[in-house]
Amino acid sequence: PEAKALLRTSGINAGYGTMQVLWGVDLDVRAGETVLLLGANGAGKTTFLKTLVGLIEARNGSIVLADEDVTRTRSSDRMRRGMTYMSELAVFPDLSIEENILIGAQALGHARPQSRLEELYGLFPVLRDKRRDAASSLSGGQRKMLGIAKALAADPKLLVMDEPSAGLSPLFVKEVLRILGSLRERGLALLIAEQNIGFLEVATRVFVLEGGRIRFSGTVAEMADNEALRRAYFGLK
Ligand code: ATP
Repeated sequence: PEAKALLRTSGINAGYGTMQVLWGVDLDVRAGETVLLLGANGAGKTTFLKTLVGLIEARNGSIVLADEDVTRTRSSDRMRRGMTYMSELAVFPDLSIEENILIGAQALGHARPQSRLEELYGLFPVLRDKRRDAASSLSGGQRKMLGIAKALAADPKLLVMDEPSAGLSPLFVKEVLRILGSLRERGLALLIAEQNIGFLEVATRVFVLEGGRIRFSGTVAEMADNEALRRAYFGLK
């Protein structure tokens, strides 16, 4: 039998003013799964993720997280229920690296922030070395790491990430992939919106968004079997 969904959206419509961007989006993530949401620029990936985490209100449809309907709840409620949105914008440049991580832990009342810190430094050694420095002193790639560490400090069940590869050199993309792989091994569920198909490497399932509609969903192997998708996303004949 299929594993139960940790997150399930049904028929999500959303947009801005008179412009509708999302049209009936159905997507699910099971516990511990790594789901990739692929789509070109403007396909609606960011709009979908923001709707999911409560930064944009869904016009229709439903969002169920761990058996609770959260469609009309606040963003903070969805966080408490285990869904955290990773964004570099959530990093406070004037605070130190350690202060940023502790804010991530405290915002959700994590009981033992100090032990959480040690665990996160194990995952991101560069952040330990710079723990006392202002976040603004980090490179783009390091700031991305801090964004991930801050999101993880809240101990989520599902981490939602918008284009973690954006603006990163190939070396840093590799590093992000390595970290995501190790998070997956710890049982964390990931939902990653990307244009970079390098992320197929860590995905268990894929959803392809085009013009605000889900065009395909299935495993990576099923996607590779689909000739049109293969051409569009893998550049193969
Ligand atoms: P990208 O890779 O550029 O982030 P995306 O797939 O995430 O693309 P969205 O950012 O969700 O796509 O954008 C979908 C559509 O919504 C685009 O046509 C975009 O111009 C429009 N849009 C995005 N944000 C807003 C906004 N705040 N107000 C009005 N329109 C917006």
